[in-house]
Amino acid sequence: MTTSRRTFVKQTAGLSAASFLGAGAETRIWGSPMVGSPAGVANRKGWYDRPMRWAQVGFVEDDPGNYDPQFWLDYFKRLHIDAACLSAGGVVAFYPTEIPMHYRSKWLGNRDTFGDLMKGCRALRMNVIARTDAHACHQDVYGAHPDWIAVDEFGKKRRHPSDPDYWITCALGPYNFEFMTAVHEEIMTRYMVDGIFTNRWAGSGMCYCVHCQTNFHNFSGLALPHTLDPQDAARRQYVIWHQQRLFELWRLWNDRIQAINPNASYIANAGGGALSELDMKTVGELAPTLFADRQGRSGLMAPWANGKNGKEYRATMGNKAIVGIFSVGLEDKYRWKDSVQSDDEIRLWVLDGVAQGLRPWFTKFDAKIIDPRWLPVVEEIYKWHAANERYLRNERPLARVGMVYSQQTATFYGGKNARTTVEDASLGFYEALVEARIPFEMVHDHLLDREHVDQFRTLILPNIAALSTAQCKQIEEFVERGGSIVATFETSLYNEWGVRQQNFGLASLLGVNYTGKIEGPMLNSYLSLQKDPVTGQFSPLLKGLENAVRMINAVNQVMVTSVGNDMYPLEVVPTYPDLPMEEVFPRKGVKGQAGAVMREVGKGRVVYLPGDIDRTFWETLDFDQAKLLRNAVLWATNELAPLTVEGKGVLDVAVWMQKDSMTAHLVNLTNPMMMKGPIREVIPITKQEISIRIPQGRRVRRVHLLVAGVDAQHTDEDGVIRLTVPSIALHEVIAIDLA
Ligand SMILES: [Zn+2]
Repeated sequence: MTTSRRTFVKQTAGLSAASFLGAGAETRIWGSPMVGSPAGVANRKGWYDRPMRWAQVGFVEDDPGNYDPQFWLDYFKRLHIDAACLSAGGVVAFYPTEIPMHYRSKWLGNRDTFGDLMKGCRALRMNVIARTDAHACHQDVYGAHPDWIAVDEFGKKRRHPSDPDYWITCALGPYNFEFMTAVHEEIMTRYMVDGIFTNRWAGSGMCYCVHCQTNFHNFSGLALPHTLDPQDAARRQYVIWHQQRLFELWRLWNDRIQAINPNASYIANAGGGALSELDMKTVGELAPTLFADRQGRSGLMAPWANGKNGKEYRATMGNKAIVGIFSVGLEDKYRWKDSVQSDDEIRLWVLDGVAQGLRPWFTKFDAKIIDPRWLPVVEEIYKWHAANERYLRNERPLARVGMVYSQQTATFYGGKNARTTVEDASLGFYEALVEARIPFEMVHDHLLDREHVDQFRTLILPNIAALSTAQCKQIEEFVERGGSIVATFETSLYNEWGVRQQNFGLASLLGVNYTGKIEGPMLNSYLSLQKDPVTGQFSPLLKGLENAVRMINAVNQVMVTSVGNDMYPLEVVPTYPDLPMEEVFPRKGVKGQAGAVMREVGKGRVVYLPGDIDRTFWETLDFDQAKLLRNAVLWATNELAPLTVEGKGVLDVAVWMQKDSMTAHLVNLTNPMMMKGPIREVIPITKQEISIRIPQGRRVRRVHLLVAGVDAQHTDEDGVIRLTVPSIALHEVIAIDLA
C-alpha cells in the first residue's frame, strides 16, 4: 500500500504558471512530463449531479459504541437526504485500518463505526463519501518520520495549537503524498465509496521543512521566502510552486482512487473567491462537484455572503453541482463547535445559498447530540427543499450582469492588503447590486472568453487592477460584440504580475489616460453634479440624485486625463481643509478632474469611475454612492431586465431556468441584524411588484409561489409576466411552469 516517492514524481501533472496566470506567464513545470493524468478529471456522467441534499456526520474519537446510528438513519430518511459525508480516517481512523501509524480511535475496539453507518446509508440509497483529515498526526508518526512534520520559519517543528497531543503535518511532502495516499487507497479498496473528501489537506500556512526547502529549490533555484511581498522574486515563485504542488496532490489522489473505483473521485475541500489560494479555473476543471465550505457568518458579514460564495464557485464550475456546507452552530474565532445557532439565522443563511444555486449540506461533529435545537430547523428546510426539488434543479441563471473577480489581482496587486484593496471593492459593489435588486453572477477573470461572458450584457470590473494584455483584449472584444462594462479605480493599471504599467491596459476603452498619480486617502472631497451641456438635463447616471448638487467623493482616486468627447456627469471637487472649521470652504477656481466617464463604444456602453467608489461605499454605506453604482449598471445594461422587484426592503434576488420551468428567488434580508448576525427574528416585508421576462418562444402555463403554496394571479403581456407578492417572511420563490 505504500507509495514510493519515485512513483509519485512520475505521476506529476503539468500544471504551469501559465495555467494560474493566463497567457504570457512563465511555463516551467514541476518534475517530469505529465504521465497518465487527464487534463480534467471531471466525469459529468457520474453520480455527482444526483444528490440535492447532503448530511455530514463527523465522528469524534469517543463516538464508536457511544452513539445511536439508527437515530441518524431515521433523520436522513425523514429529511430526504440523498448523500452523506462520513468521517473515515486520517487524524483518527473510525474503521479497522491496517496501515501502520494510522491512529485508530481508542473507542473503536473491534467495531467498524464508519463502515456500519455507511452500510445503513447505502440501504437508504444514499451516496456516501468518506471524509479524511490530513492536517495533524500523533507522536508516533513524529517519532518514525520527523520530516513529515510542518516546520515554522524559525526552523521549529509545529505542535498543534489546539491539542498538544498532535503535531501539524506538512501538506506538500511525504505525509500527504505517501501516507495519506495509502489511507485513501485502503478506504477506497475496502468500501468503494463514491468519493473521498479531505479536510485541511492544503496545509496550515507556510512550511519550511526539509522537503519543502529541497522541492522549492529544485523548482525555482531559490530559498523559501520569508516575506509575503508578492513582488519578491521568491515569493512569486512560491505562489506558483505551492499551487502546482497541491494540484499535483489532487491529481495523484484522484488517479489512485479512480484506479480502484472509476466511479469515484477525490473531491478537495477547495475554492472560493478572489482571496482563495488555488486557481479557481483549474479547480473548476478538476472537480466533478464541489462543496463550498463557508459554514455561517461571523463578525460584520452580510447574509448574502453565502450566495456570493455559490456564484464564485459557479463562475468556474458552470452547471456542475455546487453544494453549500453550513454549520448549525455559531461560527466564530472562539470556535464553539458544540453550539447551536438561532433558528432564523440558520434559515436565512441556507436559503440565501439555495437562492443562488447552492445545494444544502449540514455539518455536525459529535454524533452524540448535546443540544438538539437545530434538528427541527434543518428538517423543515430540507422537507421544503425536497417538496420543491424540481424547481431547484437549476440549469442556468438568467442574470445579464456579471461581476468579475480576480485571484491574480488579490495575489499580486493586493498582497497582504488584498482584503481591503481588492475584496472590499467587490463587497461594496455586491451590496449595491443587492440593494438595487439586480440579478447578477460572478465571473472569473481567467474565463473572459466568448463562451463564458456572452450570456451577459454587462461586466463589472470592481478595481480589477491586475490584467494581462490578453485579458484586456478579451474585454475589448466583449464590448466590440455589444457588451458593456463598468470599471472602477485602478482597473487594468497593472499587469498580471501586479506591476504598475505606464497607462491603463484598457485606456482606449475607458476613455482616459493615467497621469502618473494616485491620490488618497482624500479627506473632504466631493463630486459635483453636472448637467449635460447639450440637453440641459442630468444624466441617467445621476437618477435619484438630481437635487443633490454634490455627493461625497471616493476616498482614493486615479488621476486621469480624459481623451475623448465623452459624457462627464460628475466633476471632482478637490479635497479642501476640514479644520479649522473657519477654513472649511471649497476654494474658487480649482477645477477637478472627471468623477465619471460615460461612453458609447459601438453597440456597447462603458462607465469608468476613477475613484474607488465601490470600496468607499463598503466603508461608508453612503446611499448616494449606492445609487451611483446602481445607475452605472442600469445605464450600461440598457435593456429590459430579466427580473424586476419593486417594494420596500432589502432583497437578494435571483432568476433561473430549469428544464420545464423558471424561478425567481426573493430572499428577505431586511433585518436590524442584516450586517452583523445572528438575526433574532424574521421581519416580514410588505407587497412586492414583480415583473419577469419570459424566454422567447416559451409559453407560461402556471405561476405559483413555492413558499406561500398558492397559485399567483398574473398578467402576461409582450413576453413579460407581472404579479404582486403580498408579503414575504424569509423568502419566496416564484415558479413559472413553461410549455
Ligand atoms: Zn513542508
